[in-house]
Amino acid sequence: MSNKHLNGYVEEDLDADFEGAADAPTFTPTCPYCGAQRLPMGFYKSQQEADEDAAMSCNCVGAIEHRSKREKERQREINLAALNARLDDLARYCEDHSVPFGDKTREMLVRGGTLVLDGEAGELVCRWMRMRVKIKLNNKCKLQVRYSYTDTGTMEV
Ligand SMILES: [Zn+2]
Repeated sequence: MSNKHLNGYVEEDLDADFEGAADAPTFTPTCPYCGAQRLPMGFYKSQQEADEDAAMSCNCVGAIEHRSKREKERQREINLAALNARLDDLARYCEDHSVPFGDKTREMLVRGGTLVLDGEAGELVCRWMRMRVKIKLNNKCKLQVRYSYTDTGTMEV
């Protein structure tokens, strides 16, 4: 009866789906530095994504440099997040000591701290009121934010 017709219709739909999947573009991970192709390690949305995967596992000089650059970028992200977390601590510290810590001061410390992170400045020292803040990289390339509050008085006689 119409059952046969329905079956045929359903099969047609399945076929269409299958063809759709077969038509989906497949990307072969290709190292952008040496051109070596690798087996796909998953589904890629673009050739660029597939090539990034190849560059992350290839052993040619270009790919090794690529990974070291990526690692530096990752470390920079971690350091920037750490800088912001330390500035949150500093904001609390300032509040406890009744020292103003405005958005512009924070913005300046983020910008200065970023210069230190990028190696464009050796260190940043900033003073306001009785606060002294110093941002530098330690010998393990980790960001260090040191701050102190001076509570001393000077009397002129
Ligand atoms: Zn390669």
